Amino acid sequence: MQHVLVTGAGGFIGGHLVRRLREEGVGRIRAVDCKPKDEWYQVFDDVENVQADLQLLDACRDVTEGVDTVFNLAADMGGMGFIENNKALCMLSVLVSTHMLVAARDAGVERFFYSSSACVYAADKQSTPEVRPLRESDAYPADPEDGYGWEKLFSERMARHFYEDFGLETRVARYHNIYGPLGTWRGGREKAPAAICRKVATAVLTGDHTIEIWGDGQQTRSFTYIDDCLEGTLRLMASDVREPINVGSDQLVTIDQLVDIVEDIAGVKLERRYKLDAPQGVRGRNSDNTLIRERLGWAPSISLEDGLAATYAWVYDQVAATMQHG
Ligand code: NAD
Repeated sequence: MQHVLVTGAGGFIGGHLVRRLREEGVGRIRAVDCKPKDEWYQVFDDVENVQADLQLLDACRDVTEGVDTVFNLAADMGGMGFIENNKALCMLSVLVSTHMLVAARDAGVERFFYSSSACVYAADKQSTPEVRPLRESDAYPADPEDGYGWEKLFSERMARHFYEDFGLETRVARYHNIYGPLGTWRGGREKAPAAICRKVATAVLTGDHTIEIWGDGQQTRSFTYIDDCLEGTLRLMASDVREPINVGSDQLVTIDQLVDIVEDIAGVKLERRYKLDAPQGVRGRNSDNTLIRERLGWAPSISLEDGLAATYAWVYDQVAATMQHG
């Protein structure tokens, strides 16, 4: 990796990836996002920061020029509340996925990473809270999350065919609920860990000791701390694994248990109000890490308690600052 392009670098995972690549000593990094730079979560002055809309092929050609490695993380995404209500927007990320692959192929890029999602997994394998962890083969027969999941499933297949037909080395991770500081925590796109941290922090700061929980609290998920996500991503990128692979924790918890952990971190007990008609996604989802252990000799391991402590501390500061300064 001499000259690396990170797309979606103004977002949560992309920002952390740029930071990590700098720490790894990568010499030249180009960071690209469609958002204005003052909205990026992390901006580093020693990398080339570019604002560009990568739905446009010409923009993809411009930013891939001269790079040998691409991490394509740009997508329109958010938590269940966003993806259930913005299916077309989520599917339009296919323009980024397609144009980035075409531009990378034409620019002679050596390696291309695509961030897929656990939302590609078939719905009928996720219908109970005591769900069997999802193996990579469970994506077929296809019945992914409508909108967002279909785009991911299509684009990961396209990445495979770009290797088969054009020889572009592609690597695909299926991320499972990545969380951590310096990501979306309000505004409608935030995911459960950040939303719960925000609600608990708000309760602590206002003294209103109630919390709204989406669903009945019994739906299950696993959550992957950002540092584990980055380690898995870099190991996958350095490997010869050409098929999509889970990058996700297998520590399964209910949403109620997630709230318990954040309450313990904050030192409060809140009155829970369940919003049963809120978007909830599948009933249960967990990652089967057999393949990543076998192929990469590694799997995510940062505990939810540790990861949430760091996340809560950051979200708390954001809530406190917002209450002070508006
Ligand atoms: P994020 O929303 O924080 O970051 C995505 C970034 O892409 C945003 O900053 C956005 O402005 C940018 N973007 C969107 N459209 C663009 C365009 N046309 N041109 C340029 N930039 C564009 O999301 P994230 O959590 O950092 O996710 C990164 C990637 O990982 C996404 O592809 C997402 O689908 C995938 N993923 C994330 C999770 C998760 O739990 N966070 C889980 C599964 C998959």
